[in-house]
Amino acid sequence: MKTHTYPLPQEYLYIYNTVREFASSYEALLLKLDRAGHEDVVKDIREVLRSSSRIRLLSLPIPRDLGGSGYFTLGSTVALEALAFHDAGLATTVGAVWLGLLPIVIAGMLGRGDVGERWLKPFAEADARGEPQVWAFAITEPTAGSDYERIEPGVPGSVFLTYARREGGYWVISGRKIFISNGPIADYITVFALTDKQKGVASMACFVVPRSAEGFRVVSIIDKMGHRSSPTGELAFEGVRVPEDHVICPPGLGWDFVQLSLAYSRAPVGGIALGIAKRAFREALSYAGSRIQGGRRIMEHQIVREKLANMYIMISAAESLVYSVASRLESEFPPPMGDSSAAKVFASDVAVHVALEAIQIMGGYGYTRDLVAEKLLRDAKLTQIYEGTNEINRLAISDIIINEV
Ligand SMILES: Cc1cc2nc3c(=O)[nH]c(=O)nc-3n(C[C@H](O)[C@H](O)[C@H](O)COP(=O)(O)OP(=O)(O)OC[C@H]3O[C@@H](n4cnc5c(N)ncnc54)[C@H](O)[C@@H]3O)c2cc1C
Repeated sequence: MKTHTYPLPQEYLYIYNTVREFASSYEALLLKLDRAGHEDVVKDIREVLRSSSRIRLLSLPIPRDLGGSGYFTLGSTVALEALAFHDAGLATTVGAVWLGLLPIVIAGMLGRGDVGERWLKPFAEADARGEPQVWAFAITEPTAGSDYERIEPGVPGSVFLTYARREGGYWVISGRKIFISNGPIADYITVFALTDKQKGVASMACFVVPRSAEGFRVVSIIDKMGHRSSPTGELAFEGVRVPEDHVICPPGLGWDFVQLSLAYSRAPVGGIALGIAKRAFREALSYAGSRIQGGRRIMEHQIVREKLANMYIMISAAESLVYSVASRLESEFPPPMGDSSAAKVFASDVAVHVALEAIQIMGGYGYTRDLVAEKLLRDAKLTQIYEGTNEINRLAISDIIINEV
């Protein structure tokens, strides 16, 4: 069976196959991490990332003139799908590195070439040396999750905890961030902070905080139901001082950078959902082809065939939407934000539905922890929650539709 119904160009199929081969060689370890404690996860996932330098995976979306491979949203979506087919946690870990770098890539797109030279070039060089840097992206706060998504710049009403103030030639950042993918292992974190309590998000700026900065602390590693190989953390910034060249965008532009980052990252998250859905479909198909009930393979029962056909149809539709948007994100500016949300929402809903159907097709065995189907359902669920919940993404889509009437 072909891996894709969407007509991906040959070079992208090559990326897909290369990344699949890499991820499949770590699948046994990653499955072990699904049940491991935080200490093992932190140690082993860093090792997997280190070995990804073999195929220069993390440099895939870095511009060529800065030492990367120059593939942007389409290439990263293909890679995330390939990773998620084997382990969604690994896909989230890699995706979080790219999300952490996105504000810097965006600064470069908007004419700040110096920011790219300062951060992306060393990133690609480190990957080439086999010592890849881990990045994270921190917007969510204990009291501001969806609120960060829905608030209009300048409108008060929500409680934000992370602020930055200028002191001498430095910025001093204080506050908390929660649910940060890679937070516990990141070498660098792109942190969004308000710079004026009165002005709210209209004063937001974005900073790079190195893990080594004094006053930075991982408060806790969060125990969660899926994506368990991806360490998620609560982070504290207690008077962290960063110099001016750690400012990615100045006060006032931070909110635009958040929106642009999410526009560029949501369709790729749809790629993660797609990888999970395709794996669930493959597991269900293979089970249905070998399980005998009622004197024949269960895939010969009409109702099971209908389920398989519907799973295939939904996956194909999600794939078309995800890849057509991922491709448009490279050619249109401003990026099609609503469609990127639509790709993430649709693919994640498909992933949850297909994972549930896979369990149903596998009956009692599907419900056990001996088969991978239950992990796929746990992994699929997160794709409806992070990168903005699907409810918030639907609200964002409806805002765009209504404003266009
Ligand atoms: C494993 C994991 C990894 C994550 N990684 C990152 C990361 O790397 N960086 C980062 O910054 N964040 C990250 N997040 C945070 C994630 O984006 C947030 O959890 C998400 O935006 C929802 O925020 P919340 O959890 O505070 O939920 P809440 O905002 O409290 O929402 C709770 C419920 O209320 C609904 N709701 C809230 N407001 C509205 C509204 N106005 N209208 C309708 N419904 C509403 C929501 O849809 C949801 O169903 C991660 C989260 C998880 C779980």
